[in-house]
Amino acid sequence: MNNYTDINALMADDKQYIANTYARVPLAFKSGKGSLITGMDGREYIDMGSGIAVSTFGLCDDEMIAAATTQLNIFAHTSNYYYSEPQAKLAALLCEKMGMKKVFFSNSGAEANECAIKAARKYSFDKYGADRHNIITLKNSFHGRTMATITATGQDAFHKYFDPFLDGFLYADANDIEQIKNLAGDKNCAAVMIELIQGEGGVNDLDKAYVSQLAQFCAEQDILLIIDEVQTGCGRCGSFLCADTYGVKPDIVTSAKGLAGGLPIGATLFGEKTADTLGAGSHGSTFGGNPVSAAAAVSVVSRLNDALYKEVTEKSEYIKAELSGAKGIKSISGIGLMIGIETEKEAKKLAEALLQKGILVLTAQEKLRLLPALNIPFELLKKAVAAIKEETGA
Ligand SMILES: *Cc1c(COP(=O)(O)O)cnc(C)c1O
Repeated sequence: MNNYTDINALMADDKQYIANTYARVPLAFKSGKGSLITGMDGREYIDMGSGIAVSTFGLCDDEMIAAATTQLNIFAHTSNYYYSEPQAKLAALLCEKMGMKKVFFSNSGAEANECAIKAARKYSFDKYGADRHNIITLKNSFHGRTMATITATGQDAFHKYFDPFLDGFLYADANDIEQIKNLAGDKNCAAVMIELIQGEGGVNDLDKAYVSQLAQFCAEQDILLIIDEVQTGCGRCGSFLCADTYGVKPDIVTSAKGLAGGLPIGATLFGEKTADTLGAGSHGSTFGGNPVSAAAAVSVVSRLNDALYKEVTEKSEYIKAELSGAKGIKSISGIGLMIGIETEKEAKKLAEALLQKGILVLTAQEKLRLLPALNIPFELLKKAVAAIKEETGA
């Protein structure tokens, strides 16, 4: 086996042996701490992406490491045939913090959404029969890469190669309540599934008035409101759920990315109506709610509190104040530490230029996207924002 001493040998093996599904940045890392990450070449970078909103408290977060290693030394896995202490602790914490009744654990965002879709269909099946099965999602959304969640994803670019996609998905323009009403009409609608801020779709926040009209319409029609908080949840938007900021209560809500601070986990939370929809044998997962991931998640979730949300909001306001109206910047979107920056220059080119300056940023459609760790130190944030300003205005 290779002990890679430089990135070229690593890239060669990657190209030869790993399915070529990612257009990777020519960069690999050897270590990281907090919001600083060091490349194989020894260069240090400020991490403004946190592994796509995953490393909630940055890299090598001491408390998360302690929780995960303690559990690793107990055992890594037992199976969902048996009761699990880390799962029970995490479930109670999540239900309490989200005001939900029950949770199903999986391993990823796509799986969490897959479970939400299945539960919504079963809720409707149990109550109204098999025909009332349609799920409305929004255009430009992103819900995952499994067959059901890719079908739910409202972007044509994703709906090729893999035909036939699933039946029973309808797409509405964001912020148009009449379209939802028309599509729901007599067309047997079981659920509406939305992201409150479309992440991959370009960091587009939904209008608050639209979201409350939608919630009201869904409640009146007994159509389930599913909110995909895979990216927006876990404190990212300055509250536990972005739904708290919007003042809406979903029937089903999904979480994943930042939940365990870097280990894989997914969670589908059920409210009053759907708490008992999934019974024994109706769903399952071998790895779902893995003890190590669940223990890490307990450590992350128990540190999400008002003091941290205040910090997230202050950092967000700082970024927005610095960048709004700056040269080369057309608009800023997003809430909390989920920020989209519409620039005059091409976003992909800017991301490359920033990389050369030692700043890791993401893009979403035609925007730069920032998703730093929630505890990124102010001084690093200032450096990163200054570099962004310099590049966008140059
Ligand atoms: C990332 C993401 C997903 C998919 O999560 P995976 O863990 O990659 O399966 C689903 N929904 C939203 C909103 C996301 O941002």
